[in-house]
Amino acid sequence: MKVFTIADIEIDLHWSFTLLFFIVILYLTLFDQKNFFSSITIFVFLFLSVFFHELSHSMVAQNKGIKVKKIILLPIGGVSLSEGLIEKPKDEFLIAIAGPLFNFLIVFAILLLVSVIPLPFPYHLMNQLTDPYVLEQALMSYPLFSLLWLNLILGVFNLFVPALPMDGGRVLRALLSFPLGNLQATRIAATISKMLAVFLFVLGFLLGNIILALIAVFVFIGSQQETGLAVIKAELKKLNIYDVINFRPIIISNENTLKDAFNLMQLYKKEALLIPQKQGYAIITLSTLSSIPKSEWNTEIKKFAVQVPSINLKEKTDKIIELMLLKGFSLLPITKDNTLIGVIEREALEKAIEFQKVKEANP
Ligand code: ZN
Repeated sequence: MKVFTIADIEIDLHWSFTLLFFIVILYLTLFDQKNFFSSITIFVFLFLSVFFHELSHSMVAQNKGIKVKKIILLPIGGVSLSEGLIEKPKDEFLIAIAGPLFNFLIVFAILLLVSVIPLPFPYHLMNQLTDPYVLEQALMSYPLFSLLWLNLILGVFNLFVPALPMDGGRVLRALLSFPLGNLQATRIAATISKMLAVFLFVLGFLLGNIILALIAVFVFIGSQQETGLAVIKAELKKLNIYDVINFRPIIISNENTLKDAFNLMQLYKKEALLIPQKQGYAIITLSTLSSIPKSEWNTEIKKFAVQVPSINLKEKTDKIIELMLLKGFSLLPITKDNTLIGVIEREALEKAIEFQKVKEANP
């Protein structure tokens, strides 16, 4: 659910956050009315802390030239979706550490504030906080303490669990990248992440803590994806893009029908066809066709064509990975000095990566 937009970044609330909010409201109204306002305050603090944590990541990323499109807020942290891939380990390090650092800054600011101004703060309970009942009382009765506590938990949890795709895992990967390079660093970080995930899952299971078990699953899947991406990135770097270009692309025009498109695809065994436009290029894909009832196949392609960015031959391979493998474009036009020289097909790219892997695995 989109909440608002700030500095060109769309802020989304993940459904789990909304669900948690309703569960909390329901629980409080039914069973715990006396703590209603303090609990809602804590919830708002959690939202704000996660929000500013993510915003800190994004601000540093934007500053490093990586455009952040969207932030999704989850109760345990957030996910930033960026347009570009982070290339330099130093940038990844700074972006990853910015979020937890913000949380620690809040902790520090509150401690400073309460030591200078006599504000309500549970000094007298400090050495009994290991008692869950005392902790709950302190959180419910002292808003400044609950804000401090939330930020401390968020900061520590995100930074000191060295598991991808969490901040601590990214910091670890970035640090390992300096001597080892991205691929090797990701492999090591991912292995650590998976071991941690298994440990967290067992721990969550034994303690009956569902949230912990879910985080473990999230860490496991996330680290798997990170490794996959790093492998592809490394392989693509070695690939000569020239070898993957199809210099004789199958072209169709906007005025042809979907039926024509299908016939051409079938004839040439292509997943997608290129459509030159007045401005730039578009494509029509087999998966688009499969989603349209055959009774509508006499419509012009125009209506279903998808605009695609063209790739300049001089551009980095990163751009191609991002567009094809992350955004899922199945065909991209390649230009040189503004003229079309060919296309790259995703299938061909994936095959080339496979060949590269086999070549290296069996020297
Ligand atoms: Zn973070």
